[in-house]
Amino acid sequence: MSKVILITGASRGIGRSAAVLAGKRGWSVGVNYASNAGAADETVAAVRAAGGKAIAIKGDVSDEAAIIAMFDATEKAFGKLDGVVNNAGIVAPGSALADMDITRMKRIFDINVLGAYLCAREAARRMSVSRGGKGGSLVNVSSAAARLGGPNEYVDYAGSKGAIDTLTLGLSKELGREGVRVNAIRPGLIETEIHASGGKPDRAQVLGVQTPLGRPGTADEVGESIVWLLSDESSYVTGAILDVTGGR
Ligand code: NAP
Repeated sequence: MSKVILITGASRGIGRSAAVLAGKRGWSVGVNYASNAGAADETVAAVRAAGGKAIAIKGDVSDEAAIIAMFDATEKAFGKLDGVVNNAGIVAPGSALADMDITRMKRIFDINVLGAYLCAREAARRMSVSRGGKGGSLVNVSSAAARLGGPNEYVDYAGSKGAIDTLTLGLSKELGREGVRVNAIRPGLIETEIHASGGKPDRAQVLGVQTPLGRPGTADEVGESIVWLLSDESSYVTGAILDVTGGR
């Protein structure tokens, strides 16, 4: 069955890979982004080239009205909603907690936690059978940092991802009888531009060699797991938190 999926933060990195892999299955994708319209347009073109349909939707996940608008735009363009990927997330430059200011911490929690919770709420409202939906799949993108803690780098970010794991456990139980599966992916060291935004562009390459598999992961390796959790092939999987970390 051809699915309609909304992916937050799909202009670059892991979200972009998941979008293109969804396109390969012939699915339709709402490609949300925050500010990089050129990257979002490129992702839309790549999804279409892969065989799917796509539209770009600008919107900051820390803004409730923007979240509602991106869900509306996806349903309006493609007529239904079968899956949501809560992928948008940020890091800040490495720092000890003692040196972090409140502006940084609020931004991390606004985008990574509140944004993800509000997107999950919208997914629940629109896909739950008792509310007129047809069921579906929600995939939350957490991080290995949730269990490693991110010491001396970003305990704020790590804590924000711990909240994503807990959201996944609770919401999967809330929505099981609503036809909605809720799972999480915990990526490890993945080669994307997020590390540059944290001040260490080569972080994944440098630390990746220390993983059991001896290398960093690619965005496509995470995207494949996301698309599997969205697909009917994972129909009996809910409440799962899948590490995609090369064993880290
Ligand atoms: P990335 O390459 O930096 O891409 C981030 C994406 O999120 C971009 O599409 C960006 O849009 C979008 N975005 C950022 N802030 C947003 C906001 N407020 N509202 C809407 N969209 C926003 O990141 P990535 O590495 O692919 O990370 C994706 C997810 O995986 C994140 O949740 C991250 O925490 C998680 N993760 C990544 C790694 C890793 O090693 N890469 C490891 C563990 C977990 P623009 O293009 O418009 O800026």
